[in-house]
Amino acid sequence: MASGRFVCSLLAAMQRERFADSSAVFQLQQKRLNHLLHYAAERSPFQAGRIARSSDAEIRLKEIRSVNCREMMDHFPQTFCGPQISLSEAREAIQREDGRITKVRDRYLVSQTSGTTGEPAYFLNDRRSWDIQRAVVFARTFRERLGWRHLLRFIGRRRYRMGFVVSGLSSCVSTQTCLDGRQQGKLFADVRLFPAELPLAETVRQLNEFQPDYLHGYANILELLAYRAEDGELKISPEFISSGSEGFSRIGKEAVKRVFPGAVLTAQYGATECTVLGNECRSGRMHINSDYVVLEAVDESDRPVPAGERSHHVLLTNLINRFQPVIRLQLTDSITYGTGECECGSPLPWIILEGRSDEIIWLQRGDNDYVAYQPLSFQAQMYQIRNIRQWQVIQQERNHLLIRYVRSPGADNATMAAQIRQQWTAYLSEERLETIVRVSSEEVAEVTRSATSQKTKQILSLVGPPESRWSDSGRNDQCDPSG
Ligand SMILES: [Zn+2]
Repeated sequence: MASGRFVCSLLAAMQRERFADSSAVFQLQQKRLNHLLHYAAERSPFQAGRIARSSDAEIRLKEIRSVNCREMMDHFPQTFCGPQISLSEAREAIQREDGRITKVRDRYLVSQTSGTTGEPAYFLNDRRSWDIQRAVVFARTFRERLGWRHLLRFIGRRRYRMGFVVSGLSSCVSTQTCLDGRQQGKLFADVRLFPAELPLAETVRQLNEFQPDYLHGYANILELLAYRAEDGELKISPEFISSGSEGFSRIGKEAVKRVFPGAVLTAQYGATECTVLGNECRSGRMHINSDYVVLEAVDESDRPVPAGERSHHVLLTNLINRFQPVIRLQLTDSITYGTGECECGSPLPWIILEGRSDEIIWLQRGDNDYVAYQPLSFQAQMYQIRNIRQWQVIQQERNHLLIRYVRSPGADNATMAAQIRQQWTAYLSEERLETIVRVSSEEVAEVTRSATSQKTKQILSLVGPPESRWSDSGRNDQCDPSG
């Protein structure tokens, strides 16, 4: 059952957004920030080294130098306020992978980043911070659907069916939200996980059987599912759809709206380091949950960027997690703070989030015969490669994939290139594409950002979807978007 803390946090997050004004939200943010900084400076050796403390005086956030994931991982045991947990404990917990939420010492929930900007990083939450983050995600995602008008529709009916098409890895934060929801909300909701690594045809079959009221997934998987629905294979009619972690492409959002006209579509903005960064409102704007986070828009040198201008990256301070404080952590997201109030009336500031998403890759099997691959299928291949520090898959030509990679120190290049070749040969032959698609690899010193994007995309297409998917109808029976 949901804990008292979850319920209280849920109600508080709902009420504040409806009734507080922006100055009250700002005051609360500053109060929480001051408390966090004092708490972290006292208890975490790593944070104590960063935060200059002068008795009880207010600590100024902007005077604390920023930090990146690598540095936090280098000082991992010292980052905690409480027991010093080692990096190997976190890694061992992740490797156990038994379909349950990954925990260290049976108590602290551990999530792993995908390592877009380097080696994977690990972030831990205790029960308190996890309960609050979960409550805030729930309150702000379902903000429009928690009124009596919506709730009454489900009274006396079967349990609300919630389908999550997210990674099957239980160290992934969106998967953990699903697994936890399944456990905590079982009286009211039937929550199911549909591992996104499965072939899309299998996901379609399972979703047809389940008939979700609510569907959550990565934007590019929702886009592929929309094509399957358009082709008549997927037959579901969710009333609410949310996308997480990444933004839709224009064509993807249009496809989902067109195919599921009865559904409200919303987006979440979260990260492993903090799941509650923001939520999209009914006016289509992404509001930052500034009562729970401080998200600073900054330039290359960490200097503040004014509202209306696009940032180079952001600095995140998570006001909820006091177990492993995250203070001025660099995230590679590029955002623009909006000027003026949003018409939805929310007191929370809003942003424009630049493209974060990896791309769908369309390979060609024959004349007018294309097959679409979601990024997760390609990521799954790369996760099998050992001692790789950074990587990127680039579709150079329609049927040519280039893999750029950075070795971990001490790893042998010939072995790494052989591993990549073997892994991809096996994968392509399973897909019956081994004679059609060419894969090459290239060692690089660093996987850099593209000129047009602030974010390093791990899966990137230089050729885009086939022409037919760009047509007005967005539909072509010749195309088979299977994954
Ligand atoms: Zn709004």
